[in-house]
Amino acid sequence: MQIKLTTLSENTAGRVGLLAEWGLSILAEVDNYKVLLDTGLSMSVAHNAAALGIDLSKTDKIVISHGHRDHTGGLIDVLTAMRKEVEVVAHPDIWASKYSRTFGNQEEYAGIPFAREALEGLGASFALTKQPAWITDCVVTTGEIAMRTEYEQIDANLYVKEGGELRPDPLRDDLALIIKGDAGLVVVLGCGHSGIINTLIHAQEITGEQRIHTVVGGTHLIRASREQIDLTVAELKQLGVQRLGVSHCTGLPAASILSQEFGDAFFFNNAGRRITVQE
Ligand SMILES: [Zn+2]
Ligand SMILES: [Zn+2]
Repeated sequence: MQIKLTTLSENTAGRVGLLAEWGLSILAEVDNYKVLLDTGLSMSVAHNAAALGIDLSKTDKIVISHGHRDHTGGLIDVLTAMRKEVEVVAHPDIWASKYSRTFGNQEEYAGIPFAREALEGLGASFALTKQPAWITDCVVTTGEIAMRTEYEQIDANLYVKEGGELRPDPLRDDLALIIKGDAGLVVVLGCGHSGIINTLIHAQEITGEQRIHTVVGGTHLIRASREQIDLTVAELKQLGVQRLGVSHCTGLPAASILSQEFGDAFFFNNAGRRITVQE
């Protein structure tokens, strides 16, 4: 089995000619099957795919990790570039009316910036489920992730608006993509809102595979305390993670600690980064 991951959009770009914007999108290729996890904030995925020589029309499936706009805002551009019907796998709560409070304490719309009909008109057909969705016999979404660890919580600055009022967003739509590879699991995170450790334990449980080879994507450690980061490091080591490529909402303080702790196993996963997990 060959697994290739290409980061098409991230907060930073790894080479000249690529766009960077706050958000994330990673293309997973498993043998010849192509799954796009998330679509970034706006035009960066379509632009960067073209710059990297990737034909988005060959994508077999889109998976949306959760309904925040920094993961869904590129959908129109991606669907336009794909020019075909494509299934979009996600949790039904991606359509909740999502808001965030920014660092300046401003209330800001943070959900999908398009009407569902506009996306369906461009070929998207939504397959919405709370359960793990098997896409091939070795590629599966986590579905809803159980919250188990004491130190991982949903970010308290994230809300849904119901009846004109902001309530804490439980982010049940948060999911990750799992590839069951020959050397263990490859887990591709969107924002990791449920916590990286909760996500990995859940991935082990639904696949029955204990070995975690590679973890890539957003870890949402950006607002984590030093204590949470230390507990996360200890658990990642305990789980035996071989390769860790963090992105997006990890934040520089957490990323630098992870870099020190994991040495050569660590990399900063930004736009344009291509890795082959195993051959
Ligand atoms: Zn998010
Ligand atoms: Zn995000």
